[in-house]
Amino acid sequence: MSHPLLARCRRGAAVLGTLLLPWLAAAQTTPTIQRLNPTNWWVGMKHHDVQLLVYGPQAGTLSYTVDYPGVKLVKANPVENPNYIFLDLSISPTAKPGQVKLVGKKGDQTVTRNWELRARDNAPKGQGVTQADLIYLAMPDRFANGDPANDKFADMADPNADRANPFYRHGGDLQGAAQHLDYFKELGVTAVWFTPVIENDQPLTDEGGAMRSAYHGYGFTDHYNVDRRLGGNAAYKAFVEKAHAQGLKVVQDAVYNHVGINHWTVKDLPMKSWLHQWPTYTNTSYKQQPITDPHAAAIDKKVMLDGWFVPFLPDLNQQNPYVANFLIQHALWSVEMFGVDAWRIDTYMYNDQPFMNRCNAALLTEYPKIHIFGESAVTSVVDQAYYVRNKVAFPFKSNQPGGLDFVLEGGMLAGLKEVGGKDATGWDNGPQRVYQALAQDALYEDPTKLVTFLDNHDHNRFLSEMGEDVAKYKIGLTWLLTTRGIPSMYYGTEILMKNFKNPSDAEVRRDFPGGFPGDQDNKFTAAGRSAAENDAFNFVKTLAQYRRTHPALHSGQLMQYLPENGLYAYFRYDNAGTVMVATNTTDKPATLPTARFAERMSGFSKARNVLTGETLSDLKTLQLPAKTAVVLELQK
Ligand code: CA
Repeated sequence: MSHPLLARCRRGAAVLGTLLLPWLAAAQTTPTIQRLNPTNWWVGMKHHDVQLLVYGPQAGTLSYTVDYPGVKLVKANPVENPNYIFLDLSISPTAKPGQVKLVGKKGDQTVTRNWELRARDNAPKGQGVTQADLIYLAMPDRFANGDPANDKFADMADPNADRANPFYRHGGDLQGAAQHLDYFKELGVTAVWFTPVIENDQPLTDEGGAMRSAYHGYGFTDHYNVDRRLGGNAAYKAFVEKAHAQGLKVVQDAVYNHVGINHWTVKDLPMKSWLHQWPTYTNTSYKQQPITDPHAAAIDKKVMLDGWFVPFLPDLNQQNPYVANFLIQHALWSVEMFGVDAWRIDTYMYNDQPFMNRCNAALLTEYPKIHIFGESAVTSVVDQAYYVRNKVAFPFKSNQPGGLDFVLEGGMLAGLKEVGGKDATGWDNGPQRVYQALAQDALYEDPTKLVTFLDNHDHNRFLSEMGEDVAKYKIGLTWLLTTRGIPSMYYGTEILMKNFKNPSDAEVRRDFPGGFPGDQDNKFTAAGRSAAENDAFNFVKTLAQYRRTHPALHSGQLMQYLPENGLYAYFRYDNAGTVMVATNTTDKPATLPTARFAERMSGFSKARNVLTGETLSDLKTLQLPAKTAVVLELQK
């Protein structure tokens, strides 16, 4: 969720400007316990000191004891709101799975509640994603509807579902996505990333002038429930298990910066400082530069970090230790409960960065192979490097392993738009933009852990950015699937889905044709696709399947040569193989002499064209058609 235009509408902005503390006037109530978060824990976790949030009318006024071998109540922390108490529990390595009995007493009243300690299972979890993977980003509401019975619920804040309305929910769900695992496998996808699946029991909200459902999922209302309209926790766990059984990984989309205005903790705040509250509603500036700017003023940093993303997404105060614990424990719980493999973090640069480091460290301690990559929509390499492990002497050092590579996306899109025009050969234009983005990789500790992309749910669709020029589209996908980094594709790119975010981003979030009951077209099958769509699908498939089985593209080095005359060549290579990618970005056929590439090409006498299967027996010069990228596997 990155687009500042969301904030155009400030209607309702005053609703949470300063939240009142209604419990101060609460009547005498019999204490009860309604919620425990986390909802359970496991024995044998490295994170064994758990802060249990206990919630219910006057639940914070009880005196608690815990009666369970190996579980100790270290400290009970009452807070401003008597409906909450935070219990610091320490779980011994020798504790056994079972029901931990929580006893709360006040006078002659006794309230008891069980809290489950589970045994950990051996199912794969936190496997990570690497350059060996191809990530597919899908919006579950818009991908496939496997269960029309869960499309809408009358008892939810937004009871609508209507495929005819681009702003409402369309009924897609996790069961639907699970029905297309074979499609992912055929295409060469190895990991599926859904926009957030956690409950968004949000009302219709005014975004950009239209009343919209929270189908994108970025406004959580209960961290411990996957949205019922996607199938709930059971469907999510089933999806991960089925995906793993097929050799596919799952990326979870996490949000720490904010919650939905209907989040249960927002409706009854534990304390005023749970959120960033301002005397009057204050939006974030969306301007990241003050965070890295050594000349920045404190207020510009504060507005960027503590201002709200939009009025209906309250900004969490992660410097509040209760908030931090709540979020960190939920991250660990999610990986352990569902078995997800990687963690994409929304609005990364809006978060308190020391908190993010703590959270990343907790995940990596528990799951050393898990990959974490945040969304920081910046335009410079130095700004992007700030939010990942880097080699720059910043006063704050991030420990995030990876991030989404917005700078390379920007370079590729701008460079590709110039393909075939007079600027393709310009000093700073065309492929030079890509070269320059990659040339600054020296700032990152490990640039191969960045996740690369050409579009996503917040951007114009890639084909439309290319002016629907399939030649440019193919060059871009070739670069994406062969240069350094972990590639990710937005659903539908492979079947030529197009559109600009005009009049709204709903246009780039159209339903996948064939995913919904009654669809006339079924683009999951070759028979349902047009000739042009099959050409695109097969293009992606050929490259993705090649990539999947060739380690030079996973772990090989990258060497790129300065573009000359609009011709750009680079190599991925290791001891076992060398792959050359040569691009002609001009509108005329070109001859590329290869003597300049001797450092990488000496010893090779022929090559196989990965896209056509042809063998080239003379490598002294390469004939490159206009507006084309060729991928060559060099052979001795
Ligand atoms: Ca459904």
